[in-house]
Amino acid sequence: MTNLAQTPLSDRLRSLVDTVQHNERTLRRFQNVELRLIGAQDFASFLDTLFRHLPQEFSLASVTLWLDDRAPMLLELLEPVALRALDHPGLKTSREGGLAAQGLCDDGLPWLGKPCELDDFARRAFFGAAQPPASAILLPLAAGDTVSGCLCLGSDDPARFGDGMATDILERFASIVTASLDNVAHRERLKQLGMTDSLTGLANRRYFDERLREELMRAVRYRVPVACLFIDIDSFKRINDTYGHQTGDRALAAVAACVRQQVRLGDTVARYGGEEFAALLQGDRADALTVAERVRLAVERLDLQDDHGQRIALTVSIGVAASRVGGTASDAVSFGRAMLEEADRAMYQAKRNGRNRIEALVKTGGDHAEHGVLPVGQRDFPLID
Ligand code: GH3
Ligand code: MG
Ligand code: MG
Repeated sequence: MTNLAQTPLSDRLRSLVDTVQHNERTLRRFQNVELRLIGAQDFASFLDTLFRHLPQEFSLASVTLWLDDRAPMLLELLEPVALRALDHPGLKTSREGGLAAQGLCDDGLPWLGKPCELDDFARRAFFGAAQPPASAILLPLAAGDTVSGCLCLGSDDPARFGDGMATDILERFASIVTASLDNVAHRERLKQLGMTDSLTGLANRRYFDERLREELMRAVRYRVPVACLFIDIDSFKRINDTYGHQTGDRALAAVAACVRQQVRLGDTVARYGGEEFAALLQGDRADALTVAERVRLAVERLDLQDDHGQRIALTVSIGVAASRVGGTASDAVSFGRAMLEEADRAMYQAKRNGRNRIEALVKTGGDHAEHGVLPVGQRDFPLID
């Protein structure tokens, strides 16, 4: 009968749908862990996500992270006293781990299989004297030619990691771990150098000015566009007056985190003054306008509450400016300063035009003449994601 003929097909379809749904759930869970890694403010919370959150989310028997303490940015991060304070048995820096990973991960590809089949040297490098997991995957953490470490995930299920298994999702995950580690190492370095603002965790003005110079040199040399935003919280004095200074501080930290979330990992965001932030972006004026609108909307939608659970509405005014492309290395400093001043002036224009809006100075004729203001509508500006 037709029913019988259809059964295998419907079974196949059901199993296909099951697979798709399963993959979707897996991806979503990865995304949760990845967002935590990308948002990690310090090395401790980065490690906490890897060693506590990741095994919970994916029922892993073990997570081991081997890091190369010779990699420039990791040197200070992995300084012995700091490591002892973190006290994570899964974090290893011994030379053996690197050699073992190098031997197993040909051409930077992951190794999967049963650790009990590894030679003593490799097994001990990753699992020490403890009983190794039934199966494991070794994921090299590499950016370009530089390998900064290796992540090892272990399972009690001998069939979980094995030959022929697709590893693309895990390889993508490894590249996010690598980028987040780089980001965290940068943050820790800034803290050591006294270049962070303690209230918001953002870089401070000193660091921003230095980055501005470096980024402009790079922009001039490689002819790549660079832009910046000057962001000022609207009527912030009223927030302090109404809710108190402590709530004001909380609001500042919330806006800082919100701005940070709206830009790329490699972009620089700093607390430039009391309730003022500056962002240095890779991209041109149009890119910067898009980011600015994203920031404006995100702050407007922030769910910040006072001590009685009442929502506190916050908005920002943003000035946008992009640097001129061209020039020589000696122009870099003056280009940077001019760009920031222009963004600052545009921000004041946004204040004059009613706040909670974005402005960029209009350029006419030559690439630095400016007359009037280009109003960027709050409603009609396209949100590109
Ligand atoms: P406008 O929309 O024109 O920017 O108005 P505004 O009230 O934000 O501007 P104004 O410059 O008059 O006030 C800035 C306020 O920011 C005043 C200052 O007390 C507050 N502020 C600066 N730094 C901090 C801080 O670290 N914590 C808190 N709670 N408030 C701060
Ligand atoms: Mg201000
Ligand atoms: Mg203000």
